[in-house]
Amino acid sequence: MQDRRQTRQVTIGDDRVGRVTIGGGAPIRVQTMTAGYTHDIDACVAEIERYRAAGADVVRVAVPERKDTEALKEILKQVRIPIVADVHFHYQRALEAVEAGIHKIRLNPGNINDRDQVNKVIDACKERRIPIRIGVNEGSIIERKDKQRRMEELGKYFAGHRSGHLLALMIAKLEEYVDIFRDRDFHDIVISAKSMDAALVIDIYTEIAARFDYPLHLGVTHAGTKDSGAIRSVVALGTLIANGIGDTVRISYASDHIDEVKDALEMLYCLGKRERKGVDLIACPTCGRIQVDLFTLVKEVERTLMPEIELPIKVAVMGCIVNGPGEAEGADVAVFAGDRRGIIYVQGERVANVEEGEILPRLLKEVKEFESRVKAGKAKLGEKRVEILPPAPIGELGSGHAKIAAGQVEQLTIGRS
Ligand code: SF4
Repeated sequence: MQDRRQTRQVTIGDDRVGRVTIGGGAPIRVQTMTAGYTHDIDACVAEIERYRAAGADVVRVAVPERKDTEALKEILKQVRIPIVADVHFHYQRALEAVEAGIHKIRLNPGNINDRDQVNKVIDACKERRIPIRIGVNEGSIIERKDKQRRMEELGKYFAGHRSGHLLALMIAKLEEYVDIFRDRDFHDIVISAKSMDAALVIDIYTEIAARFDYPLHLGVTHAGTKDSGAIRSVVALGTLIANGIGDTVRISYASDHIDEVKDALEMLYCLGKRERKGVDLIACPTCGRIQVDLFTLVKEVERTLMPEIELPIKVAVMGCIVNGPGEAEGADVAVFAGDRRGIIYVQGERVANVEEGEILPRLLKEVKEFESRVKAGKAKLGEKRVEILPPAPIGELGSGHAKIAAGQVEQLTIGRS
């Protein structure tokens, strides 16, 4: 892990919603964007509140029409989190959003590039101390009318790179655009340069980080569904963050945006860049030794505990005694399963040996009680009081293998259609 890159810092928000700093050593912030219409005020506020409750630090809204910027006035009175207005094509929407009291503006250099128009937005934001994100996107960066000429012209700069012309074009566009802001002595800037190509995202942000000292907003744009998009996004953003690059992130999926917030936070927890809130769940992938329905068990543990537990309690759900005791030793609450049974531990101390059907309720009860004890100052997270002595492979938990081999137990539920 490399040290975090030093950047300037911008602050967004106000007295009412609170202030969020980006860059300059602040924690890496998580953003998402609403999916519904901004002019549908009640739905928009409700959507923003869902993302705030899930852990987002900032939420962006689209303002394609005047009715959207008009709605902002009411929305901004009701929300409890800084809001960014996403502006494309019409610089007037930015001015209207500023007038409504917006906390930050996003401009796209690919579609608002008239210098006078940009200057008007800069002046309005400067007067009210509102930061601006300069967000270039691969999809809107190429001026279509002279696309071929520009690509040939710029191709020589990163000649060895498979997307060299694009890399050069995005950097050139950013440099031209940032100059407009510098000329007006405006530095409350955050920069992004997104692509759907994860490898290009790593390269472009690495180049930008070397050229500008403004905070960087990371993202893989149009990443796809949650399944493929999670991999694309975490590969690119995780690599950059491990290299010390990135001050705020937006993961974007074609699915419920709550997943963007959850996955971005999980990525930051895994990289040690944010302090975890809620259960830290460990589970084995299962193998031919499994003798309980572990997939269902883990899903139920996650579904029940994630919304209920606030503290970063480490919970291990393990399929057998091969790795169960080892993981249980490092967890606050753990279960490892055997022949249709589970042994449950709290900080190394065995508290129960129960039938498969009792594992879930007992485990949930132990986790909730443990959290209450921590909150009451009677226990500490991550403290292990007793070494785990695993049971004999054939003993308390039984040998499922031997029994399966002997045809004495019915086949496993896992993996069967
Ligand atoms: S803990 Fe046991 S069941 Fe789970 S993967 Fe490891 S060996 Fe297999």
